[in-house]
Formats: sequence, C-alpha cells, structure tokens
Amino acid sequence: MQVNEYTTHSPKETKQLAELFARELMTSDVARKGALVVALEGDLGGGKTTFTQGFARGLGVHEKVLSPTFVIMRHHNMRKSDFRMFIHMDAYRIENIKELRALGWQDILKDREAIVLVEWANRIHRALPKNYIQVKFRFIRENMRDISMSVKLKAKSVKQQLKT
Ligand code: ADP
Ligand code: MG
Repeated sequence: MQVNEYTTHSPKETKQLAELFARELMTSDVARKGALVVALEGDLGGGKTTFTQGFARGLGVHEKVLSPTFVIMRHHNMRKSDFRMFIHMDAYRIENIKELRALGWQDILKDREAIVLVEWANRIHRALPKNYIQVKFRFIRENMRDISMSVKLKAKSVKQQLKT
C-alpha cells in the first residue's frame, strides 16, 4: 500500500502540504461508499489542527477553522467541487460510540458530498468507515514534524475489491 511521507520544518510548510493534499483529494477517486474521511493521528502538538487549517484552505473553505475541542464538531459549507460540506471533528473527548451517534455520525458517514476530517481519530477507530485516509503526525523536534499519509482499506473491503 502506498504511503507518502513528508517532513515539514514550520507550521506554514505543514499548511502548504495540507492545502496541496486537499486539492488533490477533491479530484481523486478514493474508493468509498459515503463520506470521504481523513483520519488524523499523532501526539498533542503534532500539527493536526495546523494541518486542518491548510486543508480547509485547499478545500476553498473561507471560514476560520478553529480547534473544535470543546464543541467536538464544526460544519463548514463548501462551494468548490462536488463536495458540499466540510466537517471538522475532534474525537479527543469522545468516550463511547453512543456519543458519536448523538452527533449524527451515521448520517454524516452516509453523505457522499461530505469530507470529514477527524483529529484524534484513533479514539473512534471502530467507527471509521471501511476505507479512509490516514494521516499520521510525529513530533521530531521543535519545528520539525514527520507527516505520513496512506489510504486504509479494512481487510473485508480489500477482499470485495479483489473479487470485482
Ligand atoms: P495538534 O492539533 O496535533 O495538537 P497543533 O496544530 O494544535 O497540534 O499544534 C502544533 C504546534 O506546533 C503549533 O503551535 C505550531 O505552531 C507548532 N509547530 C512547529 N513546527 C510545526 C510544523 N512543522 N508543523 C506543524 N506545527 C508546527
Ligand atoms: Mg488539535
């Protein structure tokens, strides 16, 4: 499976990487049934929120993207591309699947016109769709971060794809 690895040396560089990534993603054909999910994982201060700001800019979202830690989820309308909605979620405080359901998670996942970016996605790993994009952040030193991106396919769906 293809993994793209990058090293950035400033928040600005991380935002630029995220912006390019978002633009490419909008025109790519990642296999999925519903929403396009981007799962961010990695330590506190790793650059997830910084990345999200560049990502939103790449999607053409003009509203300010804040860390949603205290509200868990924010919705942004999109005008560009086939996508209608950018949903930014912070799963840090999610304790169980019930809480996710209360946020309308099931309907969000069904929406093919939604791009969903989840910070601390490992906290809701079981609730992620079969196919999603994983972005991992590693703190190297003060201004340096390793960022790796890969397409995750849960085993069952790989089997289904091999059959067709
Ligand atoms: P997270 O959401 O993963 O907790 P944030 O994006 O909120 O991380 O914070 C990252 C912090 O690290 C910010 O204060 C940012 O200015 C700083 N930083 C330094 N170098 C980088 C880099 N290369 N990429 C991203 N952030 C960086
Ligand atoms: Mg954050």
